[in-house]
Amino acid sequence: MTTHDYIEEAEQRLIHTYNRYQIVLEKGEGVYLYDIDGKKYLDFASGIAVFALGYGNTEYNDALKAQIDKLLHTSNLYYNVPAIEAAKHITESSGMDRVFFTNSGTEAIEGAIKLARKYAYLKDGTTDHEIIAMNHSFHGRSLGALSVTGNVKYQEAFKPLIGGVKFADFNDLESIKAKVTDKTCAVIMEPIQGEGGLYPAKKEFLEGVKRLCEEREILLIFDEVQCGMGRTGSMYAWQQYGVKPDIITMAKALGCGVPVGAFAARESVATALVPGDHGTTYGGNPFACAAVNEVFRQYKQRHITEHVKKMGTYLQGSLSRFVEKYEFVREVRGMGLMQGLELTIPAGDIILKALDAGLIVISAGQNVIRFVPPLIIEEEHVDEMAAVLDGIFAKL
Ligand SMILES: *Cc1c(COP(=O)(O)O)cnc(C)c1O
Repeated sequence: MTTHDYIEEAEQRLIHTYNRYQIVLEKGEGVYLYDIDGKKYLDFASGIAVFALGYGNTEYNDALKAQIDKLLHTSNLYYNVPAIEAAKHITESSGMDRVFFTNSGTEAIEGAIKLARKYAYLKDGTTDHEIIAMNHSFHGRSLGALSVTGNVKYQEAFKPLIGGVKFADFNDLESIKAKVTDKTCAVIMEPIQGEGGLYPAKKEFLEGVKRLCEEREILLIFDEVQCGMGRTGSMYAWQQYGVKPDIITMAKALGCGVPVGAFAARESVATALVPGDHGTTYGGNPFACAAVNEVFRQYKQRHITEHVKKMGTYLQGSLSRFVEKYEFVREVRGMGLMQGLELTIPAGDIILKALDAGLIVISAGQNVIRFVPPLIIEEEHVDEMAAVLDGIFAKL
């Protein structure tokens, strides 16, 4: 079958929730992907900030194969060793005390919302608590996560969503203060907004939110599904700011390709959930957790966060040259290897041209090109990416 045949078949059989790029990917090697026609692509998207450690990673593959031969699944009615080890990695690296494993980012958000509500319920016995979320945020597609996602377009047809959610403006402390009531149980935000257009929080903003949350006894939830796991140059973005949340959600690069997510919380919050409150059949199974453990092992061995700091600076420097050179390039924003290039023109057309030229980048909103490459990229890959983009920009 040809690429055309596969796409035709896919479009007949899959529910059309994505306008996919017209390529069929087959395999990967390092920071490169290949489609079924053998065309090579430099990957600056890593499956949306997932594949941090590079494709064809032999040690990662071997760790998974070994776990497959031992045990894939047990359910959460029993203990399993990989999950215990993975829990240790996550709690030690995140500054949280307890963790619950999920299968995705959106499920991690569901869990975080339930935890915040249960915590508030235990405090005052009422059930009409409110959550403050941010405009232009993204937290996932399941109904709870969608309810705190500040994007009317995603929400509209699926109403009624969960109640008690108010939206405030990111990087605007006063707008959050204006929404706080005695019923507010949590504030949820991404320290760096990803899908919403690559907006990093200002340090004073996060510090102010933290202070407000402490004063009013409100839980602070950081969604680090995209910006966590080393992407910003520290294991979690909160560490860049020195503002520690009460609950953290993570997923994407946590398993580097194996679907796994988690929410973690500090002790006095986490213990609000007791047997019967929450559960999952797959979450934290030995296979997924073997992936998590191998990811943490390689991060440490390869000094990933140090590398990201260096490469992040290099990438940002490289992208900022476009701001000087081209009038339609407005700004570079981001942290570490999570960068966005804001244009005055739509990003979609440029992304298609890049794909044609063998470069995979994605958008964040209408006019931002998003760069979330594998965390193992080197300067030569940044140079290669920049050369391709420069060629496209020069012809516009
Ligand atoms: C991707 C993402 C999610 C949703 O994760 P899924 O695994 O797609 O459900 C939630 N929050 C943020 C910040 C994300 O980037």
